[in-house]
Amino acid sequence: MSSPEPGTPARQRALELQRLLNAAAHAYYVLDAPLMEDPVYDRLYRELLELESAEPALRSPDSPTQRVGGPPAEGFRSVRHRIGLLSLDNAFNTTELEAWYARLLKVLDREPGTALPMVGELKIDGNALALSYEHGLLVRAATRGDGEQGEEITANVRTIGAVPLRLQLEPAPAWVEVRGEALIPDTTFAAINGERAARGEALFANPRNACAGTLRQLDPKVVAARRLDFFAYTLHLPEGEAPPSQWAALEWLRRAGFKVNPNAELLPDLQAVEGFFQRWDGGRRQLPYATDGVVVKLNDLALQDAAGFTQKAPRWAIALKYPAEEAPSRLLRLTCQVGRTGVVTPVAEFEPVALAGTSVSRATLHNADRLAELDLHAGDTVVVRKAGEIIPEVVRVLAELRPEAAQRLELPDQCPECGSELVREAGEAATRCVNSSCPAILRGALRHWVSKGALDVDGLGSKLIEQLVDRGLVGSIADLYRLDGAVLASLERMGSRSADNLVAALQASKTQPWHRQLYGLGIHHVGEVNAKALAAAFASAAELATAALDSPDVITAVFGIGAEIAQSLQQWFGTGANQRLLTELERLGFTLALSGEELEAQAQRSAAGSGPLSGQTLVLTGTLPSLSRSQAQALIEAAGGKVSGSVSKKTSYVVAGAEAGSKLSKAESLGVPVLSEAQLRDLVGALDG
Ligand code: NAD
Repeated sequence: MSSPEPGTPARQRALELQRLLNAAAHAYYVLDAPLMEDPVYDRLYRELLELESAEPALRSPDSPTQRVGGPPAEGFRSVRHRIGLLSLDNAFNTTELEAWYARLLKVLDREPGTALPMVGELKIDGNALALSYEHGLLVRAATRGDGEQGEEITANVRTIGAVPLRLQLEPAPAWVEVRGEALIPDTTFAAINGERAARGEALFANPRNACAGTLRQLDPKVVAARRLDFFAYTLHLPEGEAPPSQWAALEWLRRAGFKVNPNAELLPDLQAVEGFFQRWDGGRRQLPYATDGVVVKLNDLALQDAAGFTQKAPRWAIALKYPAEEAPSRLLRLTCQVGRTGVVTPVAEFEPVALAGTSVSRATLHNADRLAELDLHAGDTVVVRKAGEIIPEVVRVLAELRPEAAQRLELPDQCPECGSELVREAGEAATRCVNSSCPAILRGALRHWVSKGALDVDGLGSKLIEQLVDRGLVGSIADLYRLDGAVLASLERMGSRSADNLVAALQASKTQPWHRQLYGLGIHHVGEVNAKALAAAFASAAELATAALDSPDVITAVFGIGAEIAQSLQQWFGTGANQRLLTELERLGFTLALSGEELEAQAQRSAAGSGPLSGQTLVLTGTLPSLSRSQAQALIEAAGGKVSGSVSKKTSYVVAGAEAGSKLSKAESLGVPVLSEAQLRDLVGALDG
């Protein structure tokens, strides 16, 4: 997001960003109802900062970069702070942390690399409060407001148990100002939103907004009922009375009766700071309240004074924030992917952004409906989300930043791969290419056939498949087995050795078991699990085809799965091209059937009634990670086991997934062993040898 789009003047973009961020800050600080997620605000704010520092004339006095927080709300007396309450500068990675530290050493006139002790504290995602005590008594409490003036909310703050009304110090100082963070613990936040939902009121977006909204309640009784908490972290005392360091100040606050967050640490150098930051990345998720980073402060107060402040923040402190899971980015283009079943998926390609620790530059938009719902236009700024392992997605569009006269984006009418007309059946979400010789569909089918769970052919990656299809060397799965080593060797990035290896791997794949071959055919709804169960019930492609075409009820009866699969099998086996493919595969040496050994093992099992689960009764509860109820049942039955609906002492195992209910607790109380899906698969896996 650093450079403005060519043709869009930086000024235009800066003005748009200022307008949008000012509106967002108002919604956030004054209305307690944010317009966007914090990481999105942070990135756009960064972009504006960069534009303004490249061209200082853009830095208008009402730019959000020139202000702290928001104005005091109406309804409360506004008070001027004795000492300004500023913001904190942010660093989003260790490079920025190191740059901050290098600047600090320079300001303090220290040699690069000098180690200065620092205090690491958690950055609690609440609201800053300034508490004034005179001769030991709490006389005033105020919000941060715009940093110079805040709202006087003493009556409300007096209801917070963690704020001492009288300091436990004898004698108490003539005056002292204590700052810290008011917060709402996660469980209380959930309860507040629960009550609001029950009353049909708008929900708070996060604990920080709920806390800000609570502190501004006009009725202190409501505040008291919300059970706020408070951690103190800053101390201002009259000249000459202040402790010499931040660490000593935290100790002073503890002695005076404040709650100080127990996770603060004295850190001898920058390396220790990095360790602290990394440790809390995982640790913070176990805390009962929200944090969005750590704050690092120079320990020595005399050095803090020497370093001083910028317009908005102290130079001697920095907030280190954890990797965002959401961020804005500029859309570069909309492309379409055609999958092996012909489904056309719109994909947004945008400027790369760092999310959840990885760089992301494309995200699926699922289908035409989702595309229409997003109302995507060329050049739009989109909000992209990627959390941990989850695939990236575009969650929304910031229409306020849309370039003028931008064109609305839609799915094309023609397949981008083969040019044939795309089809969307009534009631279906998917748009499809129905040309069975579309190269994209063929490539997908080939990739699936050689994939790990199917024929598992080594050395045939996507790039090679693309070359084979583009050059017309392969027009079907069967063609793979007619490839000549010399032809393969002439392809890009192939030597004669890898060509020979590939030919050998393809030949070897002919002996893969029947269920893998069936899965490899890529029949709609026939995934690995269904393929296994079907292959156990129908010993060959011929048997399965007969059942699929003549008596689909046999499939549903034997297999215990809905009509959808039976229908899809019927359609697949009824298609001429597929029948030809099976004949060709057989000619090439595939048996498309259970092997002699498998048949024998099956016969023995049924004679002895001895599948790995024979004689056993299992109960299913909760949602399993990949198997549906009926699939799990089919697996158990294929292994000779029975599935029952209730748990008793006679139950052999309970298979439990997410959100398992009373059946799980009953199993535990009766001492019935509990299996995960993986453990069930292991037990049943013995069936396939
Ligand atoms: P900040 O929240 O990044 O940092 C300063 C604040 O950190 C202090 O005021 C204090 O409240 C808090 N803090 C927590 N623990 C602390 C500790 N141990 N020591 C010192 N301070 C501690 O800065 P800011 O100026 O309040 O505002 C920026 C933040 O507000 C960003 O996170 C931004 O995303 C968010 N914001 C969001 C929107 C939106 O639309 N979502 C709009 C405006 C601001």
